[in-house]
Amino acid sequence: MNEKIKCHICNHVTKALDGSLLNCPACGADLVNTTDEIIQKSARCSFKKSRLLQHGTAILTNKRFFWLKDDPAITGGVVGGIIGSAVAAALSESGNRLGFSIPLTEIAAIEDSRMNLRRAITIRNKNGQDYRILIFRRNNWKKLLSSYL
Ligand SMILES: [Zn+2]
Repeated sequence: MNEKIKCHICNHVTKALDGSLLNCPACGADLVNTTDEIIQKSARCSFKKSRLLQHGTAILTNKRFFWLKDDPAITGGVVGGIIGSAVAAALSESGNRLGFSIPLTEIAAIEDSRMNLRRAITIRNKNGQDYRILIFRRNNWKKLLSSYL
């Protein structure tokens, strides 16, 4: 009871109130069959959602490429002190932090783009939706993601 479960993909820690938690609330990973999805590569990555540049992590697994917003319980704790941290922890408990998640089979194009004068990558899925990211070692990621086209 009240056991804590740590996601094997994104490290998000969740209090498991009962045995009914099947997926990570932060990234959606399967918490029952943990051998199914494996991390291939991850990096610090910023994602522009509407007009706001948000900081987080990009994770490539054998199934998908997704972006996870920084955990407010950690970043809020550093910036906001004790009260900020408590509020942030409450937020993150409920916390789906997924900015986007693209199955590898749904990647349609990888293109160079710009974000705030910096070189970015735009990933397009098969529905024509674009996701623009700023990522460290952009060219390596571009090559890697292009291998799924
Ligand atoms: Zn997770």
